[in-house]
Amino acid sequence: MAQFAVIGLGRFGSAASLELMRLGHQVIGIDSNSKFINRLADQLSHAVIADATDELALQELDIAGCDAVLVAIGENLEASILCVLNLKNIGVNQIWVKATSKAHHMILSRLGVSRIIHPEEEMGVKVAQALNYPMVSQYMALGNNQYLVEIDVSPRLEGHRIDELLADGAAFVKVVLVKRRDKLLSPVATDFVLERHDSLILAGSLEILKSLAPKLS
Ligand code: ATP
Ligand code: ATP
Ligand code: CA
Repeated sequence: MAQFAVIGLGRFGSAASLELMRLGHQVIGIDSNSKFINRLADQLSHAVIADATDELALQELDIAGCDAVLVAIGENLEASILCVLNLKNIGVNQIWVKATSKAHHMILSRLGVSRIIHPEEEMGVKVAQALNYPMVSQYMALGNNQYLVEIDVSPRLEGHRIDELLADGAAFVKVVLVKRRDKLLSPVATDFVLERHDSLILAGSLEILKSLAPKLS
């Protein structure tokens, strides 16, 4: 279990803090507007009304001990930057910040924060990829053009063997595991027979995964 602070509980900050709670972490939520604190108070470990541009207020909250702090103050550039400076002064190492403009990005990058997030652009790219491959429900880039993907197997492939479906591609792709309802089946033998609603987790180069995905779905 890690400890996080999320500053700014708008749509982005509240979604991030609730997901961190769901994942079993401690989350302190901070917002200068009591409306946002009241809304989340009983769903977070702590929820505090505080102005993040006020260094003393942040010091009193003892957030220097957090594993990471997510700054999700969006529209107010000045508040976001002052907040980051305060976090640096307090000694927070892992500072992740939501950026809303090119200028904002440039300043954050000069300040040396750990990660700059552009939700609209990043989500736009994800949505385009989902439109391109609707059968790929999850994917992760592993570097060097290698990817890990989850493919929901088409019901019409029920009863087929995995090696028969992968055919020539089998030599170039790793079947990492099969997800069957709440079970993760691994290792996966070449004569493994698929059932309805199975998902395959495959690893391989983008080219080979691109050629296989349409055959499986
Ligand atoms: P989203 O798109 O995530 O809803 P946004 O990008 O529109 O948010 P804002 O609504 O401007 O961003 O800010 C997000 C939250 O940050 C708001 O709830 C706001 O009250 C809070 N906030 C703004 N300034 C401060 C500050 N100085 N200290 C603490 N919280 C702040
Ligand atoms: P983002 O956060 O993705 O930058 P946004 O959520 O702030 O966008 P807007 O900037 O209001 O949304 O709108 C996004 C785009 O949609 C703009 O480029 C705008 O010109 C365009 N748009 C708005 N209304 C219409 C319309 N009726 N028909 C076509 N395009 C429109
Ligand atoms: Ca917004």
